Amino acid sequence: MRIDVLTLFPAMFQGPLTESILGRAQGEGLLEIHLHDIRKFSLGNYHQVDDTPYGGGAGMVMKADVVVPAIEAVIDEGQKGEKGKKRNPPSLLRSYGRAGKGPWKIYLSPRGKKLTQVKAERMAKNRDWLLLLCGHYEGIDQRIIDGWIDEEMSIGDYVLTGGELPAMVLIDVLARQVPGVLGKEESAAAESFSKALDRKKEYPHYTRPEDFRGMKVPSVLLSGNHKEIEKWRKEQLQ
Ligand code: SAH
Repeated sequence: MRIDVLTLFPAMFQGPLTESILGRAQGEGLLEIHLHDIRKFSLGNYHQVDDTPYGGGAGMVMKADVVVPAIEAVIDEGQKGEKGKKRNPPSLLRSYGRAGKGPWKIYLSPRGKKLTQVKAERMAKNRDWLLLLCGHYEGIDQRIIDGWIDEEMSIGDYVLTGGELPAMVLIDVLARQVPGVLGKEESAAAESFSKALDRKKEYPHYTRPEDFRGMKVPSVLLSGNHKEIEKWRKEQLQ
């Protein structure tokens, strides 16, 4: 899966994308993330990316004549870059980058449809190229959304300072669904909200020691009786 992120603050992605499972997934070519600095498309000597809102009011609005050329350039670059490029493993070479096939373009926004596990599973299955647009300040000019965005997506009913954290949340949720990203140890099959657990919340986990400061591990888990363990775990789902 290829994900292009448009942001005013690409440095914010250091850490979440470079460490642990997401870092490894990129190293293995299972996930390809490109960060693009919107400021590169800014106008004038002051490198202006935002302006005051028509109609008045607080805050600054990101400009269409900066953001749209940025979106177009990223798509253009993505399509050109794919031509003749060898990928490993070859199964990743699917539809993206072919003439006419652009990315699915998402604007992270509190006004969008809420991200859920089911939605993420569907996206990971059906899309192999995403473009994520991160807003900042008061938001972005509505004409960008009307003309260039396929879907507005929210990570919850609260307001953050920018779309960067929501984009990272979305990338993380999607990455877990890409085959090979999670090792056997970390399988995505039987997690909270998964189909295998009837979309319920997971049962509790325990590991050694058996007795921690007088708090014991439920005895059924030590019984070795797999049927009983299964039954207990099912009962614990919420
Ligand atoms: N004026 C907007 C909030 C702007 S917050 C409003 O009232 O709806 C600045 C940016 O943060 C937004 O452009 C969006 O990209 C991002 N953002 C904030 N909260 C978010 C959320 N819950 N989900 C996704 N993106 C969010």
